[in-house]
Amino acid sequence: MILITGGAGYIGSHCALEMTRAGYDCVVLDNLSEGHAKAVQTDRFCRSDLADIDETREVFKQYPVEAVIHFAASCYVGESAVNPQKYYRNNVVNTLNLLQAMIENDVKKIVFSSTCATYGNPEYTPIDEKHPQNPINTYGKTKLMIETILEDFDSAYGLKYMALRYFNASGADNQANIGESHNPETHLIPLVLEVAAGKRELIKIFGDDYDTPDGTCIRDYIHVNDLSTAHRLALEKLFSGADSNFYNLGTGKGVSVKEVIDISGHVTGKTIRKEIVQRRPGDPPVLFADNKKAKLDLGWSPEYNEINDIISTAWNWEQNRQY
Ligand code: UDP
Repeated sequence: MILITGGAGYIGSHCALEMTRAGYDCVVLDNLSEGHAKAVQTDRFCRSDLADIDETREVFKQYPVEAVIHFAASCYVGESAVNPQKYYRNNVVNTLNLLQAMIENDVKKIVFSSTCATYGNPEYTPIDEKHPQNPINTYGKTKLMIETILEDFDSAYGLKYMALRYFNASGADNQANIGESHNPETHLIPLVLEVAAGKRELIKIFGDDYDTPDGTCIRDYIHVNDLSTAHRLALEKLFSGADSNFYNLGTGKGVSVKEVIDISGHVTGKTIRKEIVQRRPGDPPVLFADNKKAKLDLGWSPEYNEINDIISTAWNWEQNRQY
């Protein structure tokens, strides 16, 4: 049985879908503070909180967990700056609880949801896994701390982990009708599509005076189903006896904010009103992945390489969303 923490969240629910489609027995643990009951893709669901070590232990008592895919976390960069306490607790302390329950139950395999935010301001692009990790926000710092904890738990207890550093998760699985639903929504693609859907008046572009071809920030948007496949492959690699490792997950292609807006206009057939506003603090101008390591080691290859295909799935979700 695979335990998926945060399996009612955006990426966790897609990963649970991928794992069940591949025939794995899974149990989702989520406290539903950010996740959605309707997003849960498994028959087994524990509404538990990793903050409570006894509740966490109970899940391991109830189910024969062999491995964990760990998504449960707070994930707003902006909020992490004003409420770091919440981030160090929810991300670092709660992960320690999870790891404690794992060690007590002799569960020694974990795939961890990390982030390209652990790299901080890029010294070069594309960013490979050798790039120094100097996070510039609390969210990224908590994820880097967890990577460090995992390394030490490997040395001390033989815990094997795969840390997956995502670039910009996006898109949706239209067959299962699950997708991105944050409150508040802060991410570019869903916000742009809310404008297209008439739910929002305009999209604010955070700065058009960056040193990039059109002046707006460049990011690497990776489809959530491609992320999910990478989690399954990483776990299978651990099952085959591989050592701990860490991988970037991105398409390797950079797309600017203006391009996202223009392409969203084409995909939806709507006019998308935009306004240039001030830069958002902490936004590096260019971020995109060197994904060769994941391709080579995991045999992973993103299926959604075109931003318009990714946006199409997000638009489909926006028009049919249940939560
Ligand atoms: N962005 C923007 N307006 C918005 C939200 C985001 O211009 O309302 C920009 C943001 O500055 C960044 C890119 O879109 O350059 C992607 O931001 P998002 O918050 O989606 O992801 P992040 O890159 O912060 O993980």
